[in-house]
Amino acid sequence: MNELARWFDTHCHLDVEPLVDDLRGVLDRAWAAGVRRILIPAIRGPVADHGWPPWIDRAWGIHPGICAEIDPETIARRFADRDYQPRAIGETGLDTLADVPLDHQEQVFRAQLALARTHGLPLILHVRGAWERTLAILREAGRGLPWLMHSFCGSWEVAQGFLREGAFLSFSGSLCRPTARKTPRVARLAPAARLLLETDAPDLAPPWWPTRTNEPAALPSIGRFLAELRGIPATDLANQIENNVKSVWPDW
Ligand SMILES: [Zn+2]
Repeated sequence: MNELARWFDTHCHLDVEPLVDDLRGVLDRAWAAGVRRILIPAIRGPVADHGWPPWIDRAWGIHPGICAEIDPETIARRFADRDYQPRAIGETGLDTLADVPLDHQEQVFRAQLALARTHGLPLILHVRGAWERTLAILREAGRGLPWLMHSFCGSWEVAQGFLREGAFLSFSGSLCRPTARKTPRVARLAPAARLLLETDAPDLAPPWWPTRTNEPAALPSIGRFLAELRGIPATDLANQIENNVKSVWPDW
């Protein structure tokens, strides 16, 4: 029997519906599929405590798409109020499709960069459009911290700018859409040491997933798709990604 590959889902919203309604089933299926670690990104500050088992970790952050009502001056205090030790700050960044002025998004982003720097935490970045502006802000205020580009959707030209600064590019089920062009190119060309995988569940199910609700159990199939794209065995990719994850969090 083949040894089951170990997979790491670095972006999965286990704390939202409908996943949170069937956590036991979702986690059992993920573990059975070979998923060995999951990071829950944050949207509205803290990620709630649902009695997470030790292989589940939480971030702390404020998503650019919901930050309209957030006063950047309150972010440090909100962070201080948390009751757990987060593994990362985010998701944070700039999103040109969000219904929030970019100048305000930038202030909320910068406040979180300051937190990440103070606490030495990696950044989970949500970026759509505004690539140059995001890169400039990160160069100025985010150097020296790991940058995890969640469900990366930029072109290869954009990707190179971030890769030059040491960013990790994380790929999700959107990589596997039959209409995807830019993303498979980036995923094929990016250096192996900068690859990460995620489901972004319950969103972004790969096309073969039987329901609209994505789950972390889909991660290995996304990994096999990426391995095939790069022409390597899936277990080699899984090992590479485990190494990449451990370069960000040595105790994972
Ligand atoms: Zn997300």
